[in-house]
Amino acid sequence: MKIKSADFLTAAISLGTCPPPDQPEIAVIGRSNVGKSSLINAFVNRKGLANISKQPGRTQTINFFTINQTWRLVDLPGFGFAKVSKTNRERFGKMISAFLSKRQNLAAVLVLIDSNIPPQQIDLDFTQWLMGEGVPFVLVFTKVDRVSTAKATTNIEAFTASMAEFSDNVPMVFPTSSATKFGIADLHQLVHQVITQKLRKRGKDDDVESEDEEQDDDEDEDEA
Ligand code: GDP
Repeated sequence: MKIKSADFLTAAISLGTCPPPDQPEIAVIGRSNVGKSSLINAFVNRKGLANISKQPGRTQTINFFTINQTWRLVDLPGFGFAKVSKTNRERFGKMISAFLSKRQNLAAVLVLIDSNIPPQQIDLDFTQWLMGEGVPFVLVFTKVDRVSTAKATTNIEAFTASMAEFSDNVPMVFPTSSATKFGIADLHQLVHQVITQKLRKRGKDDDVESEDEEQDDDEDEDEA
């Protein structure tokens, strides 16, 4: 996938203020400091794009970026938010879980995990929850340039081994580095596939052919 354009669309404070679900979305989530902003910037190849999500008032919102005018990258608030009160944490936890389990145009979630450290229970619990909800996701391990390949591999394997304890199908794994761009091309490829599939499916479901719906020749749903 070539990123031709990437534009900040909006910051939503609740599910009700999210944009209409009329384009496929890829959500990105991970614990604070996992390297989410860096990864988003590397992915879209724009230095400061995800820094919008770090502006005061926007760290706890769901931030939407329109990519190539056809799909959206959704930056979800980092979990394990140290600076937020317990009540707020619960509110945001609810908002994020509702978004992940209910958003109908969600094509996939990139779950970011730090490759430099052994598996963390909070990340494992989160992936288990996603599995239970049937949310499609892949594991993106960040910062692989910061440790030896052997160490990153050990941490990644330990994570997937722990996941295998509660699930038969471990998701796809992407080791990445925003610093060296390692693995970013693989992510582009994955996102391209997932978005194309979602657009095709939407075309079938809604009888909508493409973004330019100038034609109004009502083909009627011919469902096989
Ligand atoms: P966020 O809080 O999850 O958005 O994390 P940031 O993208 O702000 O990154 C947190 C810290 O990790 C920053 O100091 C980044 O420079 C650093 N970082 C992020 N990604 C990488 C990476 O791929 N390699 C290295 N060496 N450092 C990284």
